[in-house]
Amino acid sequence: MPKVNCKLVSWDDVMKWCWELAEVIKGSGWMPDMIVAISRGGAVPARLLCDCLCVSDMMSIQVVHWPTAAEVSEKARVKYPLKLDLSGKKVLLVDDIADTGDSLILAKKTLEADCKPAEVRIATMQWISPVCKVKPDYYVDEVKEWIWYQYPWTRLEDIIDFTRRLFKEGGKESWSLEEIAEAFPEWYGLSYEDRWYRTAVEWLVRFGELEKVDGRYRATEKLR
Ligand code: AMP
Repeated sequence: MPKVNCKLVSWDDVMKWCWELAEVIKGSGWMPDMIVAISRGGAVPARLLCDCLCVSDMMSIQVVHWPTAAEVSEKARVKYPLKLDLSGKKVLLVDDIADTGDSLILAKKTLEADCKPAEVRIATMQWISPVCKVKPDYYVDEVKEWIWYQYPWTRLEDIIDFTRRLFKEGGKESWSLEEIAEAFPEWYGLSYEDRWYRTAVEWLVRFGELEKVDGRYRATEKLR
């Protein structure tokens, strides 16, 4: 069993889920006038739903809750709100996944207070039903056991976070790229082409969190 339960999501999976989500929405007889993405996770699904539902108006609101992959921060907060008059409009609020549900609850409340739309409904591809504080009006997958969805739009970001975690918790003084690649399946149940690990490590060196010594990588004070 890996230390963190993860699922690798492909672009084809995303396209299929958004298509199915659009079918569920159409089947309900309700149609939005506008789509509001919860940025950044909801941005790609929101854009695909615009396409599948022939909706031309899309805006976003940015909420921060999981700044590091698979590690939640204490409280969801709105980083960039949306201040627009949406009176009379039916709004579909879209995110990739409803996990704790905190982002959705906060985004919906803020949107209703700031923009006064006629109605807001929520759509996500995944809904982690045992832990989520809200049930999306529309979803495709009910997830019964918590898992980190490794979506294609956080590929590098997640690999960087997962690499950080290896350096912090892996109990080794230094790592080679090969050792990092070998640890991923064991820790996360995931494996990638070599270029992903190389690029993640390059970024961590750029951020001043890793240094290269004799062909191996070591955490600097900043990462430790
Ligand atoms: P939450 O407020 O807990 O519902 O989640 C906020 C955002 O964090 C989601 O919209 C995702 O972009 C990201 N996120 C949270 N949980 C997961 C997960 N299990 N897998 C992938 N991304 C997640």
